[in-house]
Amino acid sequence: DNPIQRKPAWIRVKAPTSPVYHETRALMRDNKLTTVCEEAACPNIGECWSQRHATMMIMGETCTRACSFCNVATGLPRALDADEPRRVADAVAKMGLRHVVVTSVDRDDLGDGGAGHFAQTIRAIRAAAPETTIEVLTPDFLRKDGALEVVVEARPDVFNHNLETVPKLYPTIRPGARYYHSLRLLDRVKQLDPSIFTKSGLMVGLGEERIEVLQVMDDMRSAEVDFLTIGQYLQPTVKHAAVDRFVTPDEFGDYARMARSKGFLLVSATPLTRSSYHADRDFAALKAA
Ligand code: SF4
Ligand code: SF4
Repeated sequence: DNPIQRKPAWIRVKAPTSPVYHETRALMRDNKLTTVCEEAACPNIGECWSQRHATMMIMGETCTRACSFCNVATGLPRALDADEPRRVADAVAKMGLRHVVVTSVDRDDLGDGGAGHFAQTIRAIRAAAPETTIEVLTPDFLRKDGALEVVVEARPDVFNHNLETVPKLYPTIRPGARYYHSLRLLDRVKQLDPSIFTKSGLMVGLGEERIEVLQVMDDMRSAEVDFLTIGQYLQPTVKHAAVDRFVTPDEFGDYARMARSKGFLLVSATPLTRSSYHADRDFAALKAA
């Protein structure tokens, strides 16, 4: 087991107390929806849910992969719930979201990796809430030929796939995934439909060097990735990978400046940045600009 290190003073999380937080929570329960906010024990849940910003997790709570940073359970998932796209769309419409993030567990057990279910969910949200912009955060669809095309054809506004960490750490942190496969996936989205914004993210504090992070930024820009998120890795339980170190706010500031200078359109790099953190606010600001 890896003991959990004490968090530094700059990682402070507000307790979830607002009425809107409880409203959001009730709506998720009533629609039997899973959120990554809860499953990943995200430290921003109080802030995000109080602003009606949530990340829906489709296709169940059990993942076929076992990434060493992730709090989602591993195992053989249940069959897909055909009614889920409708319920997600219904909740998005009821909440009046301007932007929604839809993600999923990895479904290596399905022939199409769940691409069809993603596409149905995008279409159901479009029909129920035409004003809402849609961001998907997808698995890597490794060995699922044609899956990516199915998701792209459903035309999400933002296609997000996280590289998560630097190539050196893949064998320990992201076993089962391939760095260059994930990078090519992002590249192909742009080639298939240049009107879709692409996005990716990294966790830091896992043992990476600054120079490696800058190289990943260059790799992403060579794949024309538009948006970047970088946040501190926090260890969910003693069974998960240990934090190597807490990256300071100044170092995050340096990453953010470097990322902007490399041409990313949207950059979020702070200790508590998560893949979907402020995605609603930032995307709305970009569209208005
Ligand atoms: Fe949910 Fe993302 Fe906000 Fe975390 S940062 S609470 S996962 S929307
Ligand atoms: Fe968690 Fe995604 Fe890895 Fe599954 S594939 S264990 S949901 S990070």
